[in-house]
Amino acid sequence: MNDYNGILDNDILIKSLKTAVRHDRLSHAYIFDGERGMGKTMAAKAFAKTLNCERGGETACGECLSCRSFDGNNNPDIFYIAPEKGVIKVDVIRDSINPQVLTRPYSYKYKIFIISQAEKMNIAAQNAFLKTLEEPPGYVIFMLLTQNFNALLPTILSRCVMFKMHPVPQGQIKSLLIDRGCTEGEADMFSHYACGAVGRALELISSEKFAEITAFAFDVCLNIKNWDVVELYRRTSELKDKKEDVPAVLRVLGYIFRDALIYKLTGSERYLIHSYRLSDMQSICEKFTARQLMRSCDAVEHASERLAAKMDMQYTAEQLYYTIKER
Ligand SMILES: [Zn+2]
Repeated sequence: MNDYNGILDNDILIKSLKTAVRHDRLSHAYIFDGERGMGKTMAAKAFAKTLNCERGGETACGECLSCRSFDGNNNPDIFYIAPEKGVIKVDVIRDSINPQVLTRPYSYKYKIFIISQAEKMNIAAQNAFLKTLEEPPGYVIFMLLTQNFNALLPTILSRCVMFKMHPVPQGQIKSLLIDRGCTEGEADMFSHYACGAVGRALELISSEKFAEITAFAFDVCLNIKNWDVVELYRRTSELKDKKEDVPAVLRVLGYIFRDALIYKLTGSERYLIHSYRLSDMQSICEKFTARQLMRSCDAVEHASERLAAKMDMQYTAEQLYYTIKER
């Protein structure tokens, strides 16, 4: 089995990793940078497994003792580091990394440290890590996974080989989701919301939270015209109470109005994100004029901006619902 096969549309990255192995030109530190769900962990793990594979090919054999222990998460020479409560502190570098760096691998060729969310190392941790990174023994390889490599010290960055993960085209994610049992319409929607991140798409298809948010947003669009003032205030509080889900609710609301506008203007479902809910889309189009849909799109965008600026949520929600309902 080739572990690189699961990484879609990052051919240059995979080619570079294979070439490095083939010519035995390895760096002692790599950064895999990209949004959540873009395959950083998958790429780093496939690379790490290959490096310690006893057969020494361009890809891991999947059968040797090293590969099998890797798959079982008990390869003695692979170390996983991750933030605790949102931060990687200096103690982690001192206690979990530095002592291991000083001793040779237990069983295989390299000791490999895979550090998730490496940008969460605080400054003390980064400085301690930098000392290790300056002169690591030849058997040590670090793989830093980052969503924002700029949070790392330039002196760390300059000692690492950087790989940027690229967003996967929507069509490829859609095909993958259809292979996983989604209908064409569902695959359209999930692949759109995934924004190029395969991992996010796979998360979304089984996310109860996302299903709940989508149902909530459709309910607003379908029924808001019938709300009286009392109901409008009740629903305003309900939205306000969703707290950390509000950005996602606004995003879905924005896309529903965008879809409805396109459907109203073109009569075609071809460009819709939510084509799997065509009858709801038709109902929404019957309740709103094109001009109202445009204004609703603007109102959602305005609410998102106010939310990002941390302005009063109650007032923001009222303004949003009033604009969608009345105009
Ligand atoms: Zn192997």
